This record gives sequence, C-alpha cells and structure tokens, in this order.
Amino acid sequence: MVRLSQRWQVEATGLKMSDYMEILYPQSMTAKLLQNGEVIAEYKIEQCDSCEKLKKLDKFGYTKGQGREKLIWLCGDCR
Ligand SMILES: [Zn+2]
Repeated sequence: MVRLSQRWQVEATGLKMSDYMEILYPQSMTAKLLQNGEVIAEYKIEQCDSCEKLKKLDKFGYTKGQGREKLIWLCGDCR
C-alpha cells in the first residue's frame, strides 16, 4: 500500500496544469470538452439568439411560446 501511494503521488505531481479545450461540432450541434487531449465531457450545444455564439445548451435558456414550441434560446451571458 505504501508503495502504491508513493507512485500515485509521483504521477499526480508530474501533471502540469490542466489544459482544457472545447471542440464544437456545429453540424451535429454537439461539443466535446478535452482535458490534456482526452475527452472528459460531451454535451449538446445551441446557438444563442442574441450573440449568435454556440454555447453549451441548458434548457433554462429557452423562451417558449404558448404551444410550448421553442421560440428563442439565450446563452448564460445574454440572459
Ligand atoms: Zn448569447
């Protein structure tokens, strides 16, 4: 156990600061979040109707019509 924890410490301190990178796939409206070149998250994206940027989708941004159809979607910065 001691040997195992020592090895873990070496690996942990060997890591540099995490490099996050977001790749957007507008065709499928999805995005991947990469940390040090590895995919750590996948999520849907939506185009903001205000700033027209592609942002991570969250359902709170929708403004719905009376027929519950989605009228517009605003990103977190524009709400
Ligand atoms: Zn926006």
